Amino acid sequence: MGQRRTRVRFAPSPTGPLHMGGVRTALYNYLYAKQHGGDFILRIEDTDSHRFVPGAEEYIIEALRWCGIVPDEGVDADGKVVETASARHPHAPYRQSQRRGIYRRYAEELVEKGCAYYAFDTAQELEAARGVAEAGGGTFIYNQLSRGKLRNSLTLPEAETQRLLAETTDWTIRFKMPEDTLVEMDDLIRGHIEVNTATLDDKVLWKRADELPTYHLANIVDDHLMEISEVIRGEEWLPSLPLHYLLYKAFGWEDTMPRFAHLSLLLKPVGNGKLSKRDGDKMGFPVFPLRWTNAEGETSRGYREDGYFPEAFVNMLAMLGWNPGDDREMFTLDELIAAFSLDKVQKAGAKFNPEKAKWYNKEYLRLKSDEELATLFVPVLKAQGIEVTGCFESPVCCNFETKSFSLNYVKNVVALTKMRATFVPDFWEIARCLFEAPESYNEKDAAKFWKEENYSLAYQAADFLCAFEGEFTPEGIGAPLEEYIRSREWPMGKVMNCLRLALTGASSGLGITDIVATIGKDELRARMEKIGNALGK
Ligand code: GLU
Repeated sequence: MGQRRTRVRFAPSPTGPLHMGGVRTALYNYLYAKQHGGDFILRIEDTDSHRFVPGAEEYIIEALRWCGIVPDEGVDADGKVVETASARHPHAPYRQSQRRGIYRRYAEELVEKGCAYYAFDTAQELEAARGVAEAGGGTFIYNQLSRGKLRNSLTLPEAETQRLLAETTDWTIRFKMPEDTLVEMDDLIRGHIEVNTATLDDKVLWKRADELPTYHLANIVDDHLMEISEVIRGEEWLPSLPLHYLLYKAFGWEDTMPRFAHLSLLLKPVGNGKLSKRDGDKMGFPVFPLRWTNAEGETSRGYREDGYFPEAFVNMLAMLGWNPGDDREMFTLDELIAAFSLDKVQKAGAKFNPEKAKWYNKEYLRLKSDEELATLFVPVLKAQGIEVTGCFESPVCCNFETKSFSLNYVKNVVALTKMRATFVPDFWEIARCLFEAPESYNEKDAAKFWKEENYSLAYQAADFLCAFEGEFTPEGIGAPLEEYIRSREWPMGKVMNCLRLALTGASSGLGITDIVATIGKDELRARMEKIGNALGK
């Protein structure tokens, strides 16, 4: 094989929104392709029309794009699926439903080679056979033991086979599983695997009824035609691996057979078992990259709509089941491309930790510039009725009466609060008092701190700040304010809590000097007035 070009594919079936486990599979394929200077292909496996869900394909494309996982083939830069073969895309189309004409002759080639056969059993006949087997305490399997007693081209006279092929339309082509043969396989993550064919059934490869291949045939034929070098997919496909090996052998394609890597499952945060949408609903985290609304109108939350940055989501996903071999946790997509390797992908399932997902977002939020965060915060402010004016070059201004603030003011606010936020909308919760005076005062806090012996001192402290002529920054006013209160032997905590109550409506939140220096003297005075009118002077 030697110089084979790396070509990997992500091959989802559009049966619903892409689960985060699916995104991880796409990501690992993408990282592997890019690290090897190869191609990442998006193939849509939509041959099962019963399970087709409208909108799912668009969802998959959009989700990958949001994550920055851009296919080299399958989807153009503008997001359209490439439908016809061209010099740039000789392997197109990439949707299996548009390749339906390809598969039948491959299935028939296997019949000619004696590796497959025509099966004419109707659904009722198979149902009856199942009933008989179950009555005897067993299960019905179409395999080396039963195929000789069923209606197929192995048991029927040739003329009858030809008649049924010509006159009926519900026959199938089944793989003739070799008898009692040891299949030896190698998996890049799991190592050597051996399975005896006696445990395997004669899978349907092609169906006359809809003239479509099943997953197994379409998948092998397309991986071959698309010159796939490695198949990296979820471990739910591991049981299909012996059949896939045998199909490559039956076609005589062993020399170009891809290498396989089966990824472990994502597990729920507590207990064991696969991470499901129900776990997300129960514990309050998304399991899908983007929001999804199903045909019944039920909506599932998405990482994007929950406020996650795509780079945080991607970084978190990459670390779910892979590690770089040291304790680094933060990786850009390019760094992941450089560091990724299949031999560091773990065999065991990876437990998903929703807190870690938040941690990643918090870290990425801190890495963003104040300008970028301010820009992202603007729509949140607008939704709260706050107007944002000017650009980063304009002077800082704030008008609490008209609720109008300059972009540079917003930038100062995010700079002040970014260590406390996990998501952009958190800025509103944290910094609301920097945009509007409190509407009301926390009753418990007011009862505790707004007491006659304290609030007159708080007024005097506020007056001191309003008359302060030094640098009006948190650092500039911090020490003088403390000194002012201390030298008068006033109770520091009580005075400060009164001030905080006036500024924020409660006794917790941002630092007093931070707030005062940001909102300015006029607004400080206005808030002292306001609290006095509300709670008494
Ligand atoms: N269509 C299959 C799926 O949805 C692809 C499996 C594979 O990658 O071979 O998971």
